[in-house]
Amino acid sequence: MSTLIEGREGQWELVIGLETHAQVTSEAKLFSGASASFGAKPNSHVSFLDAGMPGMLPVINQRCVEAAVMTGIALNAEINLVSIFDRKNYFYPDLPLGYQISQFSDPIVGEGWLDIELDEGSTKRVGITRLHLEQDAGKSLHDQDPFRTFIDLNRAGVGLMEIVTEPDIHSADEAAAYVTKLREILRYLGVCDGNMEEGSLRCDINISVRKPGGALGTRTEIKNVNSIRFMREAIAFEARRQVEIIEDGGDIDQETRLFDPDRGETRSMRSKEDSHDYRYFPDPDLPPLVLDTNYIAEIKSRMPELPDAKRSRFVNELGLTEYDANVIAADKSSAAYFEKAAEKAEPKLVANWVMGEVFGRLNKDGLSIVEANVAPEELAALVVMIQDGKISGRQAKEAFEKMWSEGMGALAVIQELGLEQISDDGAIKEMVASVISANPDKVAEFKAGKTQLLGFFVGQVMKASKGKANPKAVNAILQEILGQ
Ligand code: ADP
Ligand code: MG
Repeated sequence: MSTLIEGREGQWELVIGLETHAQVTSEAKLFSGASASFGAKPNSHVSFLDAGMPGMLPVINQRCVEAAVMTGIALNAEINLVSIFDRKNYFYPDLPLGYQISQFSDPIVGEGWLDIELDEGSTKRVGITRLHLEQDAGKSLHDQDPFRTFIDLNRAGVGLMEIVTEPDIHSADEAAAYVTKLREILRYLGVCDGNMEEGSLRCDINISVRKPGGALGTRTEIKNVNSIRFMREAIAFEARRQVEIIEDGGDIDQETRLFDPDRGETRSMRSKEDSHDYRYFPDPDLPPLVLDTNYIAEIKSRMPELPDAKRSRFVNELGLTEYDANVIAADKSSAAYFEKAAEKAEPKLVANWVMGEVFGRLNKDGLSIVEANVAPEELAALVVMIQDGKISGRQAKEAFEKMWSEGMGALAVIQELGLEQISDDGAIKEMVASVISANPDKVAEFKAGKTQLLGFFVGQVMKASKGKANPKAVNAILQEILGQ
């Protein structure tokens, strides 16, 4: 749903296209064997190639190619059997080669699409223009010394997938839903950790405004936004700024801007360069990347079930609500935890417990689902006891607390806490009989018509059982015996 912006002279429509950079989860960099891991001592993961030493030759990392193919398939996109690596030439202190190896005219993945979920349960299709592989740059550190800038090349040459959308996005909500969905898929595939704070997933936001349905306006590009909240703030600010300029009779400069989270505003960084400024040309050190259809089919066969498929299976086969399925399938590990437990217990009840107690405790303890202190099998055992009427929901919650904090199994906790309900008819009948023989006068009153005394008898039996008798069973047996 596009949100229209109210200007002085009527309404304006937002137009957004996103370029997302996703760092490929891989041991090594895109064209060198140096480690691609995050957080190491500065300049400790730098090969001669990454440092731009003369005469070094790039060698493609197959893992990155696989990641691109998998992501392309998940984005319903065309996988190009021949793609080309180009040099994108520019000077930057943290780019020692003097160019970035990227893909320009012939990317590895072509057009596709992604359906995103909006509020009110509606979906919207966002066109994918392309996905290409390229090298990340190093980092300039401006905050280590008052007078000097340092360079850390650990990130130089790490593999990135750049995923570009059509200008199909028309609100901050849609932009947020797109990135959320894309991140979910990348994580399911295991091709990118999706960590926006560490910069392994970051977005360039191309944004313009126009009269609804009119021709596209001039866009600005907001670089490297690394949280969904900042995306929303940047879009709101930039849309407003553009509307004001145009309504004041000005023109939008096509430029690259930066978002400043402290001030909540975007600022001009540089005028936008055109692609011819980069003097792209095919990298003579790299032959065209040629894939064959068997290789693509083989990768496809190894792909995990994707979130949309999982969600609809949870709804159609396991009877979850759309809402529950959305929450649980949003993360692959949560979905796996749920499915493991739901193998042995009623799925809907398991879903309630996962979203309630399990997520609640994880949140409180700052843990992720793989660190849960209650194994899915144990949760299932507890849920089965509720299903069978052996314990009440309230007792199960008490047991769950102890299972979590002491790492005990469901059965052991129930026994130790003495929670197991007595549902055995024989045992309850015995207790009923002794309560009846101890209260002959009340029994007479009951039989004479004072039926509200049933509550008294139930209370006495519950007391005799120390609260462990199943109240439903007690009720039924009392009615049966007293009714005679
Ligand atoms: P470049 O390669 O210079 O960054 P592209 O033409 O490849 O530019 O477009 C980059 C992104 O900008 C794409 O996501 C595209 O959808 C988006 N885009 C293009 N024109 C507009 C526009 N007028 N308003 C908003 N987004 C746009
Ligand atoms: Mg761009």
